[in-house]
Amino acid sequence: MDGSIESRVSHQVDDWLTWLPRWRPGTHRGRTRLCRTCFGSPVIAAAGLTTDVPHAVQHALAMRLKHLIDAEVDEFTETHLPLLSREIQLNEERKAASAYHPAEGLDPAYTGLDLDPPAAPDAPYLFTFAELARPEASVAAPLAPAPLTDAEKAAIRAEVARADAHAALVGGRVCAELVRHRERMRTAVAEFVEPWVLALLADLDTALDSPLWPRSI
Ligand SMILES: [Zn+2]
Repeated sequence: MDGSIESRVSHQVDDWLTWLPRWRPGTHRGRTRLCRTCFGSPVIAAAGLTTDVPHAVQHALAMRLKHLIDAEVDEFTETHLPLLSREIQLNEERKAASAYHPAEGLDPAYTGLDLDPPAAPDAPYLFTFAELARPEASVAAPLAPAPLTDAEKAAIRAEVARADAHAALVGGRVCAELVRHRERMRTAVAEFVEPWVLALLADLDTALDSPLWPRSI
C-alpha cells in the first residue's frame, strides 16, 4: 500500500468529510446492542467525536480507520511473519474446501442414500444437494497439514505477538494523526450533523406538546 500511515489517515478523514453532508438521521433503526467497533474506541476518542455525535457518524469514521489498520497489519504479516501468514492461508484453504458437505454428519439412517429424491419429470428441481456438493468433489482436498511441533507452535505464538504489537503501533499512529484532524472534523459535524440533531429534538418537543399526547391524565 502506498503512502505513510499519516497520509492514509488524512485521506480517510477527507473521504469521511466528503460523505458527511449526505448523512441523514434515522435512516436506519437504532441498535439494540452497543457497537463493538465504536464503543470505547480510542479512534473515536482521538477524533474528538465521543460525545454528542450520532453513532452512524462515528461508525462511518471508525470503519474506515479499522480497514486501514487491518490492511496495514495484513501487509506486515505477509512481509515479515511467514509462519503466521502460512497458518492464515491454510486456514482459509480449509474453510474454502469445507464449504458444503451435505452427506457428512447425517444420522446413520440417512447416510449412503441419494441426496435428493427423484424429481418429477415435468418439474425438475431448481437445484439439488448433489449438484451443490459436486464442485467440491472435483477439487482435490488439501492435504492435512502435519501437526505442529511445540517449537513451531511457540514460533507462531511469537509471530502473533509481533502482529499484535504492530497493530497497537499502527493504532497509536492513527490516533496521533487523528488528533491533528480534530478541528476540521468537529467543524464539519457542527455544520452538517448538529442542525439535523437540533431539528429532531425540536420535532420531539412539538410532538410532546401535541394535544394528541396527553401530558396529564
Ligand atoms: Zn459502530
